[in-house]
Amino acid sequence: MFSDRPDGNHAKPPPGLYLIATPLGNLGDISARAVRLLGSLDLLACEDTRTTRRLCAALGIAAPKLVRYDDHADEAARAQLVAAIRAGQAVGLVCDAGTPLIADPGYRLVRAVRAAGLPVTALPGPAAAITALILSGLPSDRFLFAGFTPRGGGARRSWLAEIKAIKATLVIYESPHRLVDSLADMAAIFGPREAAVARELTKTFEEVRTGTLAELAAHYAEAGAPKGEIVVVIGPPGEGAAAASDEAPPDVEALLRDALAASSLRDAVASVARATGLPRREVYRRALALGAKG
Ligand code: SAM
Repeated sequence: MFSDRPDGNHAKPPPGLYLIATPLGNLGDISARAVRLLGSLDLLACEDTRTTRRLCAALGIAAPKLVRYDDHADEAARAQLVAAIRAGQAVGLVCDAGTPLIADPGYRLVRAVRAAGLPVTALPGPAAAITALILSGLPSDRFLFAGFTPRGGGARRSWLAEIKAIKATLVIYESPHRLVDSLADMAAIFGPREAAVARELTKTFEEVRTGTLAELAAHYAEAGAPKGEIVVVIGPPGEGAAAASDEAPPDVEALLRDALAASSLRDAVASVARATGLPRREVYRRALALGAKG
């Protein structure tokens, strides 16, 4: 049996690869089992040795021997970790925050250790995707974790078009400075689906903002790129009142009225054009038709 003695015994853990989740921001989210194990490993592979050393210090643990690892490391680096396990060592893997392998390194290492017939186990814990999903109020029975959106508008739009029809809640990692453009593309491509933007999870300024994609796009176009780390959760096609017709176009006039109430004509047109993907000229024409003064 492969066990790292969850009974609290501090004996040296058996050889193997231990995938250890660490907090997303709130130190209190580390598991008791992870603390115990971190203090007794022979070797700990990590993304950034400074970050992991800081984590160990904050937990009051003397850091084990640390080695930097990412999946793009050459085969030799992986082979060394496999050899260490074969030689009887307990080797941990952590990422900077959250669960290793989830938009973070480790997949190739797990394959290599498994292929060598050596044990792999996990100490599960925080993952931003799951935390955002369960906070979003969107269906959690069936979901797709799609990772990060590709960089670049064209690549992102084709990627969104590819996953649009999947009948599941979509969970997407996004960087704050791309959020405004990304939400505008999502609103234009997915139509009026319910969504949530989850930010700074488990931290002091944790926030989960919900609405249709167009509403969220208009909000962030207006408010600007938020600070912190972000997960976007999008409800499945055809779910919920807001998405009664998945193909219905966004309500441009309603968006314009909201935006005009909060900002100048120029800014309102810019934010609604961004949110809906419509040309600015067309949005401007509709704003004038609503009575806005040019
Ligand atoms: N392995 C991590 C996990 O288990 O979630 C994900 C690492 S990935 C390199 C970093 C991305 O995860 C961020 O850009 C953000 O999308 C998401 N993320 C990480 N921590 C977060 C937090 N506290 N709040 C919101 N999103 C977070």
